[in-house]
Amino acid sequence: MIATAVSLAAAVLLGGSASVLADGLPDLGDSARVDLSPQLERKIGEEIFNDIRAHEPGYVDDPDIEDYLRFLGHRLVAASANPAGDYYFFAMRDNTVNAFAMFGGFIGVNTGTLLTAQSESELAAVIAHEISHVSQGHLARQIAREKQSSIATMVAMAVGVLAARSNAQVATAAIASAQAASIQSQLAYSRDFEREADRLGFQTLAKAGYDVRGMSDFFGRMQLAGRVYENNAPVYLRSHPLTVERMSDMQNRAQNASYRQVADSMDFHLVRSKLRAQALTPGEAVKEFSKQLREKKYASEVATRYGLAYALLQGKNVAAAQKEVDTLTALKASSPMIAGLAARTAVAAGDHAGAQRIYRDALQRYPQSNALVYGYAEALLDGRRYDQSLRFIESQLQVHSTDYKLYGLQAKTFAALGKRLQQHRSQAEFYLLQGQLGAAVEQLQFAQQAGDGDFFEKSAVDARLRDLRKQLAEEAKEKKRNGG
Ligand SMILES: [Zn+2]
Repeated sequence: MIATAVSLAAAVLLGGSASVLADGLPDLGDSARVDLSPQLERKIGEEIFNDIRAHEPGYVDDPDIEDYLRFLGHRLVAASANPAGDYYFFAMRDNTVNAFAMFGGFIGVNTGTLLTAQSESELAAVIAHEISHVSQGHLARQIAREKQSSIATMVAMAVGVLAARSNAQVATAAIASAQAASIQSQLAYSRDFEREADRLGFQTLAKAGYDVRGMSDFFGRMQLAGRVYENNAPVYLRSHPLTVERMSDMQNRAQNASYRQVADSMDFHLVRSKLRAQALTPGEAVKEFSKQLREKKYASEVATRYGLAYALLQGKNVAAAQKEVDTLTALKASSPMIAGLAARTAVAAGDHAGAQRIYRDALQRYPQSNALVYGYAEALLDGRRYDQSLRFIESQLQVHSTDYKLYGLQAKTFAALGKRLQQHRSQAEFYLLQGQLGAAVEQLQFAQQAGDGDFFEKSAVDARLRDLRKQLAEEAKEKKRNGG
């Protein structure tokens, strides 16, 4: 699947100047000329990201985690060298520590990084460093610098994505199959780029209000881990080589900054509890969180109770989960994640009206939470409030017109109402926004054959289908021209 993304990306890059080999790896011809516009970067990044989201089992499809990374990431972006830049943050379920920036501002963070960080400032430091690689266009500049081996760098970039997964052997195999030892070295950012990302990352971290020691603390721990694993150094250290000079620069910067105690956000702890619970079976997680509560060994009581309640609900022990949710409410803990868990517990108990009420109240307080938006729409669906669900989704689409999940929920609601034309029309947008043009065209064909809908709805489907077929034909032409 990664190979598909590589050949697509290479085809986009190469124009007619080189062919793509049968195994999906591009021919390393010296006629390849690279000219990367920001639009092209975004297109390549989007294709690889769509590929990861559709096919990588490690992709974390969890709105709570997505919301958290989005809030944290954009707080840092706002304090970065390019606050207007386009960024998208996502998580990969993988116990190793890694974070990586792809073309187009897509930044992936392994769950291992979230669980290893000892404070939110440490996590923010890692992400601020990646944001700086993006804002300075390091990936594209690296390619421009390589001249002859530009395509190898393209492959290396994809290998970097591959290497972000837990299976390091796959990455090694990919490097071997590309038969270019130089690729592995190109996977690493140059010393100059590392220095720049460290310096700007530090400024971003300070400006965003985090503890600037987060950087040297986290990298110090990474360095230790690197020593422990020796040759099997974490992928992160391979792509961001940690030198003695880098470490001492970081420590000096932190020492010269004024000391500032920064408290972790509640959501930082909640996200970690959720990830920890997801890494275990519900039974194991219940045991672990109960033990921590009994022995009072936790960084946050609220987050530990949240983990326990989450695990109990996953284990379908609804009554016990409800009891923990009540305790959380009594602790006056407030977070979109806690509200979402309380509402899901109510749904599991068959209290649809109660769940809807929790979501409505929480959305007043946290209108930016996508997890609450999806949860509320689902609760309305579960409670068979279809018209209300459609109105709510429509109002959200006014603001978030490119959110494929909203179209998926809209399609489900239309399906429940037996409106087949509308169902397939929404499903088409659901696929289109994930880069699956062929599947979108197919859905519009189903919509045409649905046999329901009025004149205006049918005309709208016809017009949309003509539009997408044109796009599909253009894409096919482009691929043919590129010899792919
Ligand atoms: Zn770096």
